[in-house]
Amino acid sequence: MGYRNIISPKIVLLIFLMIVLFCSSVGLISYYNSSKTLYNSICQAYENKAVDNSTLLSKVFEEKLIALRLIAKDEKIQTMDWETQKSELLKYIDILNVKRFRITKSSGLSYSTDGYVSDMSDREYFKKAMNGIPNISDLLRSKVDNSLIISCAVPVMDVNNHVLSVLSYTEDYHALNKMISDIKVGKKGNAILLNRKGIVVAYPRKDIILSGVSIFEQTKIDSSLQSVSNFAKIMIKGNTGTAFYNYKGEDKFVAYSPVAGTDWILGLTIPQKEIFGVIDSLRDKFILETILFIVVALLFCYLIMLYLSQKDRFKDLQKDSNEKNEQLKEMTEFDRLKTEFMANVSHELRTPLNVILSTLQLCRFYFKGDIPINLEKIKKYMDSMHQNGLRLLRLINNLIDITKIDGGFYELNLQYINIENLIDEIIHSVAEYAHDNGLSIQFYSEIKEKNIYCDPDKIERVMLNLISNAIKFSKPGGYILIKILDCMQNVVISVKDSGIGIPSDKLGTIFERFRQVEQSLTRNYQGSGIGLSLVKSLIDMHKGRITVASEIEKGSEFIIELPMDASNENTERIDFNINKHSISQEVVKLELSDILQSY
Ligand code: ADP
Repeated sequence: MGYRNIISPKIVLLIFLMIVLFCSSVGLISYYNSSKTLYNSICQAYENKAVDNSTLLSKVFEEKLIALRLIAKDEKIQTMDWETQKSELLKYIDILNVKRFRITKSSGLSYSTDGYVSDMSDREYFKKAMNGIPNISDLLRSKVDNSLIISCAVPVMDVNNHVLSVLSYTEDYHALNKMISDIKVGKKGNAILLNRKGIVVAYPRKDIILSGVSIFEQTKIDSSLQSVSNFAKIMIKGNTGTAFYNYKGEDKFVAYSPVAGTDWILGLTIPQKEIFGVIDSLRDKFILETILFIVVALLFCYLIMLYLSQKDRFKDLQKDSNEKNEQLKEMTEFDRLKTEFMANVSHELRTPLNVILSTLQLCRFYFKGDIPINLEKIKKYMDSMHQNGLRLLRLINNLIDITKIDGGFYELNLQYINIENLIDEIIHSVAEYAHDNGLSIQFYSEIKEKNIYCDPDKIERVMLNLISNAIKFSKPGGYILIKILDCMQNVVISVKDSGIGIPSDKLGTIFERFRQVEQSLTRNYQGSGIGLSLVKSLIDMHKGRITVASEIEKGSEFIIELPMDASNENTERIDFNINKHSISQEVVKLELSDILQSY
């Protein structure tokens, strides 16, 4: 399994998890911000509504006081004669829709339009009005019928602005209560009017008003009202604002604002569920959408991972099958080459053997009994048998050597040798054969007196093979040029000919075992196709390199790069100089047996 196969799905998973995390965080932040903004604007809207309604209420009372002040300025009211005053006031009862008017003298003695005389000296509103302040009373118990009432009072003044008495009217609390009950606060919300003592002045539920007990007093008896008492304490401070409280297990929200000109504070209460329900549904929606998003993203991620792993598995299978196909092709090709090689080798073995046998047959004609009759002919036939024997021997030698190299039994016998002398010797030994084939052979060396560690017998095999090929594949009139060049740590030996050349598409495989450029059994040239492969193996054993450059009809050049020292830990070396390496003519004949047809 490749590196990519293991890492890719992991990276995909990581990227997806990061995207999911990022999107969820962005979603959470925007949910938090928008719910906060929504929450603030809801609170603000209710606070504004409380301010608007308290302003409206104070305007209503202000108008009532203005009307009362206008009546107080009437001459008949200022006469201080009750009968005159009463007849005048009765006219306004229906216009202002009040229960009764009163004129209270500075002593507190009070006359009402419905005939009652009472002492009002203890009433706060009376005291304030006597001090010249028009005002609206708190919720009061009527001294006439004990009902809940509200009074509006203004001073009656003479021309010198001296307070003569107090003009007031009494209004049933229902009118105020209706005004408060009419204020719409959502679906389940209510308006409430509290005075600064914490007593409910107006509220849709009458029983709460009728008790006339302050919330703080009630809390002492019923501790469940503690939360209500807390918000009432904040409200009566006289500021505008919002608060939360719990009433009988229900969480409520209140926006409040003082009613100017009175001692009252208007509160708008509503269940939190109702006003913040939109935020809750936003939260629920957000949670649901986030879960959905994560599930879809994970599913998507899983599908991509599945796709990638399948893709990788498919690629692996494809690669595997390609490799197997390649191996099969190689094996088929190897098999084909082996078969071809066997055919070539058989041909190569049979041809000289046939020649030897038919020559032997011919020889018999030149014997009469046991006496040779044509010695010259017999000698010629024996030479031919010898030469074909050599060809057989060379082929068998090459086969044995290749097998030994493959089995790792072939060893180098390294000697510290003058390479120029060695190559020169070899060239001398083959010069005659080159000339006999109509070829000139030249030698050029860039180096003198250079000793390297190599196996001279193996280098001789290599050179004889290359020169044999150069002679074999060149036409008369051509040349063979052998050069030795000094190249840093290497010695470069080049064997160049002006022969038939090698097609460019064959250059890549020329050193492979059993390869011949011309592959038919009816080839023009002798050979088994293992010569160059043996050459390459020998150069490889020397840690060198062999390459070829060739052009059809122009010639070929084989270049060998030999290191100065081919030894390794296991190789035996002879460390003294060998300047002269003797070359056996038998060996030369053997290696050149392919080209010695005519001998
Ligand atoms: P062989 O014993 O058949 O010569 P080699 O391995 O020595 O086998 O050579 C393989 C093939 O390479 C030859 O059959 C020939 O086609 C080509 N070849 C080798 N040397 C030369 C050369 N100097 N010029 C042209 N072709 C060559």
